[in-house]
Amino acid sequence: MKIPSPTHISRILKYYDFFKEPGSRYSREDDPVMIDSYIYSFELFQLVNKLYMENFIQEYKQSYRLPENLEEADICSLVRVLSAVVMADRYSKGILSQFIAQGNLRKIFNRLSEIKLEMENRMYGSLLGLAVGDALGVSVEFKSPGSFPPVEDYQGGGTHNLDAGEWSDDTSLALALAESLSKSKGFDPQDQMERYLAWYREGYLAVNGSCFDIGKTTQQALENYEVTGDPYCGLDHERSAGNGSLMRLAPIPIYYFSNLEGVIRYARLSSCTTHQHPLVLQCCQYLSLLIQGALWGKSKTELLSADYAPYKTYLHHDDLLEELEEVVQGSYKRKNPPEIRASGHVIKSLEAALWAFYHSNNFKEGALMAVNLGEDADTVGAIYGQLAGAYYGETGIPQPWLDKLARKDLIHSICQDLIYPE
Ligand SMILES: [Mg+2]
Repeated sequence: MKIPSPTHISRILKYYDFFKEPGSRYSREDDPVMIDSYIYSFELFQLVNKLYMENFIQEYKQSYRLPENLEEADICSLVRVLSAVVMADRYSKGILSQFIAQGNLRKIFNRLSEIKLEMENRMYGSLLGLAVGDALGVSVEFKSPGSFPPVEDYQGGGTHNLDAGEWSDDTSLALALAESLSKSKGFDPQDQMERYLAWYREGYLAVNGSCFDIGKTTQQALENYEVTGDPYCGLDHERSAGNGSLMRLAPIPIYYFSNLEGVIRYARLSSCTTHQHPLVLQCCQYLSLLIQGALWGKSKTELLSADYAPYKTYLHHDDLLEELEEVVQGSYKRKNPPEIRASGHVIKSLEAALWAFYHSNNFKEGALMAVNLGEDADTVGAIYGQLAGAYYGETGIPQPWLDKLARKDLIHSICQDLIYPE
């Protein structure tokens, strides 16, 4: 089933006013010559068309049951109800009118408004969570685990001598990818590379106006791009299996929220611009499915199961490289530091971020577990943050961390454009 996105929901909610009050504008007085069950106003006709266009009519099954409590139904149940009612109305005119007259459409609209806010909360949470994890970890980047007093808040200082709440390349590149997707209205690798290059050469979207932290593989790819103009110029040798494309991934599942095939395809291609090692490509696909599932509101148990359905459908266990298959089977559930390490290798970073996500109960607890691993702390923080932020939502991130996050308004507005690109 395609999950309707906040954009789809917004287009449907434009009809909300019309059906808000039973018997107001949609009433028999509008069309006195017709009997009740045949009332079809122009607005109702338009609404039905929109329901088709915006993914609300799909997977029609002849028998359906109204959820016991429409006020708390999830988006999938609402799609099933609307599909069933509209399709049934085609064969037996009046069913939809009756449904409206009983106030059920109004209840669905109410619930959709709430669901839209929940989705937005998770989407903002993912991008802000990425930045918060980055900003928490950057002060202890490159430090050995246990060699520093535990991080409890933004600290400032560190290798790049930043102010507390400032973030690094992980966030800059994620913002560049997000901006490219919304401004290009889709996936344009050339445009992405131009934005990454503007960051590298001119400090575009850098927290303090200059590029001060760049991974070797990303740097090499950008310099190759300057010479060749080929946007897919990421390296693929063994030493290039780093975490540089995994750390900036969140914009892909946010932008392709409703589109499972799109997430799988573009998570891979979004890595190819700078990192083309097969293991990196698979890790990006896996994490993007997890983030997308979290954005949809899936439970942690379901997401972290090796049987998670979208994963089984789109990434076959047989095709997976062994290192990733171990993680998918839950290696991080059994291990602890020092076996869990926040090194820059893609598998180690992913495993460490999932370890923090799995063994914690809220955003803050897991974020501190992730960054206190030291080493590539900002990137493991960013990988954790984009998943945990999607899962707990913006409202699950401690308010003081959001308040003190550098350029929070910029991140928010870039994310808003990503959610509502038109
Ligand atoms: Mg960094």
